[in-house]
Amino acid sequence: MKLQDAKTVRVRRKLLETITKKSFSSVSTYPESLEVASSHNCENMVGATSIPLGIAGPIHIRGSVAKGTFYLPLATTEGALVASINRGCKAISQSGGGIVNCHRVGITRGPVFYTGSIENSEKLYRWIKTHGDRLRKEAQETSNHLKLDKIKVNTLSQHVFVRFSFDTQDAMGMNMATIATQKMAEFLEHETGFKCLSLAGNFDIDKKAAWLNFIENRGWKVWAEVILSEKVLSSVLKTTAQKLYETWLAKCVYGSMMSGSLGFNAHFANVVAALFIATGQDVAHVVEGSLGITTTQMTKQGLYLSVYLPSLVIGTVGGGTSLPAQNEALDILGVAGGKNGKNAATLAEIVGGAVLAGEISLLASLSVGSLASSHQKFARGK
Ligand code: NAP
Repeated sequence: MKLQDAKTVRVRRKLLETITKKSFSSVSTYPESLEVASSHNCENMVGATSIPLGIAGPIHIRGSVAKGTFYLPLATTEGALVASINRGCKAISQSGGGIVNCHRVGITRGPVFYTGSIENSEKLYRWIKTHGDRLRKEAQETSNHLKLDKIKVNTLSQHVFVRFSFDTQDAMGMNMATIATQKMAEFLEHETGFKCLSLAGNFDIDKKAAWLNFIENRGWKVWAEVILSEKVLSSVLKTTAQKLYETWLAKCVYGSMMSGSLGFNAHFANVVAALFIATGQDVAHVVEGSLGITTTQMTKQGLYLSVYLPSLVIGTVGGGTSLPAQNEALDILGVAGGKNGKNAATLAEIVGGAVLAGEISLLASLSVGSLASSHQKFARGK
């Protein structure tokens, strides 16, 4: 089966080269083992795009589950990003490590049902509210690794929106949640006669920036904090507590307010994207990962800095996590595969620590006006 797939990939690429009259020598350079992707991860596969992988760290993390020293695999084409995160890791480690905590919130799927009237919507609302256990039974028959945790219902005249939240152990869980929701929707349609218009009705809310995910959360929520001494601020970050504090206030608070941003942070998305690509996460979930708040406070010991990620969607099994290079990247972090949900929790906390490192370094750079020069140095080699 695998050999047949490998041959198909090559034949398809050759056909594309013939049609376009071009040669795709870079697209055809990838390990044979990646051809497994053509069976579950990518249709009409013709090859692979290479993205450089860098390592930042070590970063010392004192999490509720992630404990110790980690090296962060980061896939990116943005020169200066890995160097910047690396500097943040050094600052955190020299400050005794980042303290990190996480809560599993659960992946969501949110179907929308048509009822035709406000009165019928009220009927369906009440039916769902009183049939939670029955719906849970339907959902949990679809998987050995899924639990239905929460049902949130909201009505809009003729439509009823439901937001199911699932514990999917170590998997990110979007396929598992979708399969479980399909079974529940069929049961609900059969029992009530109301029609499911769309299994995904944007009340989930998947891959769109939204306050609902900020407030109700999605996937995991993660907190990370550290206190940076004046010594670390000057020797590693080349700045001062006062300068970094003022930059944070102007950028992450006032600047975010001025622009109506859902991210009150410096650049969560940069760190999340690089880690997501490296470890085989669904990259579109960077949207959720870009939400969040960075806070600071001047203390007697130095500058307190924290990050809060309200909606981090990650997994260590399923999706792209079993592809060869991505699985090795997870292995660098010691979280490849399933472990009753512990590997996913550990990954969530590592992402939290990495995001904290990214915030520290970028804010420090901005605070002394070195953003442009560092990009000139690293990204343009000048
Ligand atoms: P999946 O690969 O479809 O399913 C995970 C599988 O791993 C399940 O079969 C599960 O078992 C099994 N498993 C084994 N050990 C496990 C453990 N310790 N914890 C959890 N599961 C374990 O992956 P998924 O996470 O559900 O979905 C991820 C994929 O969904 C990504 O490729 C993403 O791009 C895609 N996605 C889909 C949608 C959609 O609407 N369907 C939307 C967004 C993204 P069981 O058989 O017992 O369940």
